[in-house]
Amino acid sequence: MAKVRKYLSKDGTIRISTVISTDLANDAFRYLEASPLAKVITSRAMTAAVLMASQLKEGLSLSLNFQGNGPLKTIFASASYDGSTRAYCENRGAELPPGVRNVGAGLGNGALEVALQQPHDRQPQTGAVELLSGEIGDDVAYYLGQSQQIPSIVALAALPLDEGIEVAGGYIIELMPGYTDATVQKLENLSQMTGGLTDRIQQGATAEELIDTYLMNFEFEEIEHPYEIQYRCGCNIERVERSLLLLGPTTLDDMIASSEDSEVRCEFCGKLYTLATDELISLRQTLPTTPLN
Ligand SMILES: [Zn+2]
Repeated sequence: MAKVRKYLSKDGTIRISTVISTDLANDAFRYLEASPLAKVITSRAMTAAVLMASQLKEGLSLSLNFQGNGPLKTIFASASYDGSTRAYCENRGAELPPGVRNVGAGLGNGALEVALQQPHDRQPQTGAVELLSGEIGDDVAYYLGQSQQIPSIVALAALPLDEGIEVAGGYIIELMPGYTDATVQKLENLSQMTGGLTDRIQQGATAEELIDTYLMNFEFEEIEHPYEIQYRCGCNIERVERSLLLLGPTTLDDMIASSEDSEVRCEFCGKLYTLATDELISLRQTLPTTPLN
C-alpha cells in the first residue's frame, strides 16, 4: 500500500504532504456501488483527510464532514496519523443535474466541519467553514486559511472508471509561521507551472514526482512517515445496533413487523450484518414506546 510522503523546507516555513491514493480509493468502493460523481468527490475527500492526518501527531485522527444542499448531501472522510482511513457518501447514486458540468455542484452550498480527535478526549475539537466550491480542494484550503490561518495549496485528483477508480492522489502545501511574501509569490508562480494533476498521475507519476517542481525550487528535506495508508472500517455489531437505535422506534417497529431477519449494510465498508427478529425486539425494548400515528 502507498505511503504519504512528507517534506519540510530547510527554513521550516513550507511543509508538504503528497500521496497516490488510487488503491485506497478502490478499496473504498470495492463493496459499495457508487456513481462517478460520488466516487470522485468521496475519493478527493479521503485523499485530503489522509494528507491532513499525516501532519498530526501519533495517536491523533481527524474527520472532514462536508454537508451540502446538492445531490450528494453528505460526504464524510476520517483518517488517523497512522494512515487508517474510511469514508462515507450519503447519496452514493447521485448524479449532476442535466447540463451541469462542475462537480462542485454535487455538494452545492453548505459547510465543511473538521473535527480533531485526541485519544483521551471525549469530544473532538471542531471548526467549520462554508463550502467555497464543493470541489473539496478549495474547501479544504479555505478551512486551513480561515480556521488555522495557514495559507495553502491543496491539489486533489480522482478519475472514476465504470468499476472503481483509475487514478487518485494529491498534495497539500502549507505555509508555516515565519514565511515571507517572496515565498508566497514563488509558490504561486510554481503552482501555475505545474501540469494537470490527473494527467500526471495517469502517466505514472509517484507521490514525490507530483511535487517535484517545488522540490527543485526550494531546499527541502523529507520527514520520515513510515505508515501505509489503508482503508479500515472498524465496524461491528454493536455499532450497527447503535446506528439502528438512532433511526428511532418507528423504523425498528417496521423492521420487527416484517417478521424476517433484517439485513443491515455498513455504509462505510459494505459489510452485511443480519439481525434476527428477537434481537430487534430486545433492541426496541431499550427505546421508549411511542404512539403509532
Ligand atoms: Zn464497516
